[in-house]
Amino acid sequence: MTKKILVTGGAGFIGSHLCERLIKAGEDVLCIDNYFTGSKKNVEHLLAHPLFEVMRHDVTFPLYVEVERIFNLACPASPVHYQFDPVQTTKTSVHGAINMLGLAKRVKARILQASTSEVYGDPEVHPQPESYWGRVNPIGIRSCYDEGKRCAETLFFDYNRQHGTDIKVIRIFNTYGPRMNPNDGRVVSNFIVQALRGQDITIYGDGQQTRSFCYVDDLVDGLIRLMGTSHDVTGPVNIGNPDEFTILELASAVISLTGSSSKIVHKPLPQDDPRQRRPDISMADKELSWAPRMKLKDGLVHTIAYFDNLLSDQALRASLNAD
Ligand code: NAD
Ligand code: UDP
Ligand code: UDP
Repeated sequence: MTKKILVTGGAGFIGSHLCERLIKAGEDVLCIDNYFTGSKKNVEHLLAHPLFEVMRHDVTFPLYVEVERIFNLACPASPVHYQFDPVQTTKTSVHGAINMLGLAKRVKARILQASTSEVYGDPEVHPQPESYWGRVNPIGIRSCYDEGKRCAETLFFDYNRQHGTDIKVIRIFNTYGPRMNPNDGRVVSNFIVQALRGQDITIYGDGQQTRSFCYVDDLVDGLIRLMGTSHDVTGPVNIGNPDEFTILELASAVISLTGSSSKIVHKPLPQDDPRQRRPDISMADKELSWAPRMKLKDGLVHTIAYFDNLLSDQALRASLNAD
């Protein structure tokens, strides 16, 4: 049976892959986005599909539609973008959650929140299980994102306890893949774009900090599996790839896979940058029978191919404009 599904932030990196997968599964998708970090281009190929509809809307304002499922993904995710207008970032997480939960409550929809590994902050427990409460600076430059997402989780659990709202909370760890915004400053897109352009690869700090990178298709699989669980499964559930790499190792992998002559340069480490991050995914295994499939090297090959095309298109357009 086709379900009416709302995807907020559907024109973003993860959202556009999710919309695509839902449509392929025969669902009726309403994508809403304010295009702050997403773009119409990410969903251009879906526009002609009869099961797809897109609407410009900001989740900090109320939304009255009739749907059965809500994936709440709207929120800038890269530090550069969420720190650009930090007050709006908190509003997006908090007012956005209240509006989408109010909507879910009114229409009795099941609602999933895209939370983040950032709720663990700079963690003292490694790897991070869902039971860890985190170590977040409440007044730093990352707080608008981290605390906004933490407050959104609180709201989800309070709507669940107070109103019986059918909630799911997923904690997403660093995700990468095609359709990442080339200018959003995240490490995977930065390194690939720098390597393809032959520019210096910018490592912040000594490069010994770690992250665990999940390919977008694996993540979308986790999102859909969690949405399909019964009412009693609320999460929070970690979804991420437990293979952990230093940022220096990532830079070397990108240089070798692109065959680039780029050199590594070091820049200052941003404030409150977590030193290590790796998900404990035993709950995802138990509740969702989920585990990531894509190895970093293979995922990077797909992502490099995407950026290579994108940069060639941009170069072609620039040369045509110059003629
Ligand atoms: P993205 O920036 O590509 O996508 C976010 C989308 O939300 C964009 O299309 C943007 O225009 C839209 N948006 C932002 N503010 C909005 C608002 N007020 N109203 C409506 N739309 C708004 O980022 P992404 O990587 O696709 O992230 C999607 C979600 O997953 C976010 O909630 C993010 O916090 C979460 N997440 C992502 C990662 C990751 O590594 N990519 C990690 C943890 C959590
Ligand atoms: N809301 C919405 N769409 C709906 C229902 C509610 O956007 O279909 C918003 C509305 O702005 C409201 C918020 O969700 O303020 C929270 O709704 P709730 O019913 O929980 O509380 P209210 O503020 O209405 O008492
Ligand atoms: N980083 C880096 N060079 C870059 C961009 C990021 O060394 O050009 C580092 C950043 O300091 C952090 C890690 O890579 O330690 C991941 O950064 P990203 O912004 O992708 O995600 P997050 O910090 O939110 O996990």
